[in-house]
Amino acid sequence: MSVLEIRDLHVTVETDAGTTPILNGVTLTIRKGETHAIMGPNGSGKSTLAYTIAGHPKYTVTGGTITLDGEDVLAMTVDERARAGLFLAMQYPVEIPGVTVTNFLRTAKTAIDGEAPAIRSWTKDVKHSMKNLRMDPKFAQRNVNEGFSGGEKKRHEILQLELLKPQIAVLDETDSGLDVDALKIVSEGVNRAKADTDLGVLLITHYTRILRYIHPDFVHVMVAGKIVEEGGPELSVRLEDEGYDRFLDASTSSE
Ligand code: ADP
Ligand code: MG
Ligand code: MG
Repeated sequence: MSVLEIRDLHVTVETDAGTTPILNGVTLTIRKGETHAIMGPNGSGKSTLAYTIAGHPKYTVTGGTITLDGEDVLAMTVDERARAGLFLAMQYPVEIPGVTVTNFLRTAKTAIDGEAPAIRSWTKDVKHSMKNLRMDPKFAQRNVNEGFSGGEKKRHEILQLELLKPQIAVLDETDSGLDVDALKIVSEGVNRAKADTDLGVLLITHYTRILRYIHPDFVHVMVAGKIVEEGGPELSVRLEDEGYDRFLDASTSSE
């Protein structure tokens, strides 16, 4: 049973203005099989949390801990995080010249499992997952991220999720730039991974739209680098109606 534990996390980033604190004590526990939504206004630090879990070098942890089943995630390299069972969608945002989707996926699978997948079953799995995501088979021969549309990037992320079978997935703004049809296909992919592998999901989103398709068990509201309210799915319904104004008012008046 995997559990990702974030305890009193403080993170800074270097800007022209100097060292800027972004996360100011974030505490969160995500267990396998649970879906947590982190919601919040733009600039509240949601992506910073995702990048920090992913081990992005721009972000400095100045306090607190992140552990996966008690192991210190912050001491792991990016590759070690993936091998430990974390899936970080923003891990491969760049174009990889000359590397096709199919080779990329096989290399990633080999790195994570510690051995190459058997070619026949692997080819079948890739085809099956691509079909599920309604991807053109030709997509497998394209170079990673080269000229991918927003929707293709997201589908490629979910294709990785389906094939790499992580324990806990961090998905940052998976809904951005998707039309309703693509959003449904991508959400179904996440829901399949939840059902098939009891995946734990940390779903980061500004808008409530995706939560109509991927149902959260827990909702956390982040404002100014802190979780300011937590609840169940009803909290996202309330946010859909009311927006973030009441949190923003509270955070400005306390400053
Ligand atoms: P969100 O994802 O909630 O919109 P972010 O984590 O992207 O929020 O940003 C939180 C704050 O941190 C913003 O004020 C943003 O400008 C700042 N920030 C985040 N990453 C960087 C960075 N790499 N360089 C400079 N500022 C950053
Ligand atoms: Mg943002
Ligand atoms: Mg963001």
